[in-house]
Amino acid sequence: MPFTPVAVLDPERLKIAAERLCRVFGIESLHPHQEEAGQNILKGISTLLDVPTGGGKTLAFWYALFYHWEPGNTEKDCQKIVLVVGPLVALMEEQAKGLNAKGIPAIAITSNSPNIEQSLTDLGQNKYRVGFVGPEMALSTQFHEKVLNQVEFTRNIICLVIDELHCVWEWGNDDFRPEYRQIVQLLARLPTGLPILGASATVPYHVIKDILANLGLPADCARVEVSNEKLNVFLSVRILQHEPESFADLLVLFSDEAEGPEDFLQTLIYANGRQEVEKIQDFLRDNAPSSVDGKKAFEFYHRHIDEDQKENIQTRIKSGELRGVPTTDALAQGMDFQTIMRVLMWMKPRSFLSLVQKIGRCVRDMRLRGETALYITKAMYTRCCAELEILRTEKEAAGKEDSAAGSDDEENLEEPPDRDLALALQNMSDEEEEVAAAPAKRQRKGKGKPKNLSPMEERDQRYFLEYITTTKCRRLVWNRYFGNQRKKRLNISVPVGPCCDNCNPEAFGVPTIALVGERKLKTGRKGLSSPELESAVRKKLEAVREQIVASEYPNQHFLTGNAILTDDVLDTLAKRARLVTSIDTLQQQARWIHASRYGDRVVTAIQEVLVDFPDLAAVERETQTAERAQKILDVAAFKELRSRLVSVFEGCYNTVFAEMEEDSAGVDSAPTTAGRKRKKIKEPRRRCQIFLKLPRRDVRTSIFRIMRCSILSQVWPDYYELIKEPISMTNIKTLSEKTTHYTTIDEYRADWHLMFNNARQYNVESSQVYQDAVYLQEIFDSKLYALSTEHKLPGHELLPGAYFVLHMASHSNVKLNQITYRLRREHKPRLL
Ligand SMILES: [Zn+2]
Repeated sequence: MPFTPVAVLDPERLKIAAERLCRVFGIESLHPHQEEAGQNILKGISTLLDVPTGGGKTLAFWYALFYHWEPGNTEKDCQKIVLVVGPLVALMEEQAKGLNAKGIPAIAITSNSPNIEQSLTDLGQNKYRVGFVGPEMALSTQFHEKVLNQVEFTRNIICLVIDELHCVWEWGNDDFRPEYRQIVQLLARLPTGLPILGASATVPYHVIKDILANLGLPADCARVEVSNEKLNVFLSVRILQHEPESFADLLVLFSDEAEGPEDFLQTLIYANGRQEVEKIQDFLRDNAPSSVDGKKAFEFYHRHIDEDQKENIQTRIKSGELRGVPTTDALAQGMDFQTIMRVLMWMKPRSFLSLVQKIGRCVRDMRLRGETALYITKAMYTRCCAELEILRTEKEAAGKEDSAAGSDDEENLEEPPDRDLALALQNMSDEEEEVAAAPAKRQRKGKGKPKNLSPMEERDQRYFLEYITTTKCRRLVWNRYFGNQRKKRLNISVPVGPCCDNCNPEAFGVPTIALVGERKLKTGRKGLSSPELESAVRKKLEAVREQIVASEYPNQHFLTGNAILTDDVLDTLAKRARLVTSIDTLQQQARWIHASRYGDRVVTAIQEVLVDFPDLAAVERETQTAERAQKILDVAAFKELRSRLVSVFEGCYNTVFAEMEEDSAGVDSAPTTAGRKRKKIKEPRRRCQIFLKLPRRDVRTSIFRIMRCSILSQVWPDYYELIKEPISMTNIKTLSEKTTHYTTIDEYRADWHLMFNNARQYNVESSQVYQDAVYLQEIFDSKLYALSTEHKLPGHELLPGAYFVLHMASHSNVKLNQITYRLRREHKPRLL
């Protein structure tokens, strides 16, 4: 039986439907997107509804229902049905419960249901206005027979909602719940022409087409899209100051001023494994200030805890009793927690999408503000930088082969060149990326086994890496990922506040986390003596106890040392010698009844032995801590360096252009000393545009990359170890066999001189190339000299500036590109 849409929408009934809905759900008015999506359904138009968490997605589902029906209405013709397919049992059960409480007969039929058969029969007999089922249930034979084959059902169903639509992409493509991909089979069993409402809060822009195709919907089906940027949360990425195993970085969550549990923002802490979440709970409990009862306030959650406990935790989150819940992905997917004010992610989640979903759970109410942070180690951060570089290099390589390829939709979404050079760098790489015609599966460099990523997964990863490593606003990455620029915005006034740690570093304020109360950190194996130390201490202590016996009990020959200092205490002390620094610590390590009397002697004896056994591990640890601290400082220095480099660029730019102008004006008009007008193009924006208009994409790319590398190299000297790609002329002259790693300006100059010389040697004096080379060399040398003296920069810091000079020169009227390319073509063996 085909579905019959409402032929002409009655404005009066629409108005009444909206009013009923508002009344039943206790809201003031509907959002435009809710009405639009609801009306599409009534008209029989399948629609993609992409609305962020907190945007009132579900009301759009019920709007169409309320056009026909309202709670309490028993007229036969009005008993319409909305069928919702969703992935999450708990969420569906909760939704059904909520609807029933509002007088809307609804049922969630899941594996938990007490009487599945009866429930299905009831749904088929049109006893419910809303039915929730999982994809597995929806595709079962039972469902087919008891529901889909029932005329009562097919005559009255008005819409199929596929909730959490992104799961079609996210879950359907592997072994995990493959049914989500087979949903299209369900469509075939429903009345023809039945509209589908696909709803999601986090559907990545690039997978929409894929999802629609999977559902057999046209790519241009109606879309109601609202930007999912969560302007009400602060985004940040935090680099751990301590070993991850210590969890010490979480100490920052506790405020000294906390007067009670309420002062601890209600927080979800996502970690990637159950052991981790359990340890985090212990850590929080152990370190909670006295005003907070750790046992009550912190509780872990993962899927291996029993159902009662899960329910208990969810209730306590809602009541606000639980202040911090370390959890795996198991918690809160789709669950409606209104009170979470802070979401932390302990180490990288598996995908960018997953990160966004987690952040989506923070502060559902868009009128409040919250905060989120991703905690990663410095090593992970460095690795992200390197991986991103690799991905970009691969993209560039792929892009070069078919740079003529048509532009992706996505291309148009890139933000325009903006304020400073760094953004130009960023744009550049984005622009290069568009060739999504990436080889489908490829082996990637990296640790261990090669990963096979689909182009979509690779894109997700790339965005994730960008999100982590960007020095610009993190929201830019987020918005590009979801194509938010082209979507509507929620009509809610969000309170103003800091945006992200890059935009508002002042709001980021991470104090240095000092480890106080070290007793809480387990000594572990680190404190144990080496066998040599152990035996040395043992010998020494045996001697000490003999001395004690000899001096204190001179004539008592029956008294052995063992009576004063028993062998087992002695053993323990020998094993833990490093931890014995005072009588107190001695007592902590071994309970010795004579400690107060002879403890001093023992401690002194142990300390004497330790002099000969320096603790290499501790020295190592100290060095590591110092190095880590240094790296954190380096990050700050990096920002400063960047601004310094930008000013170097500006200087270069202005001087080069001024000189060009003098040259060209020189003949015609005598220079006037004071009145000479220097054309200075001040706005960085314009310079970026010039950059982006440079003719040869690969030269441009190379230069950007070199500049980026140069900057990076100063922050992470080991960076090159990771990417295995030295800064060299190879980046410009892609065919070169040379692999010099420039560290000084002299090496760099030498290489350029070689090129200039070649240009002269292989071209006649009257040729353009020859003249360009002469001219360029002059500028090059004088600028380098001027720059190095003016800015008092060491040679390697000057590299980006030098590239800049050279490139600007080439762009204006000295045709460096021509030189490079002619040389490459003509003298390949020798120079390139
Ligand atoms: Zn920002």
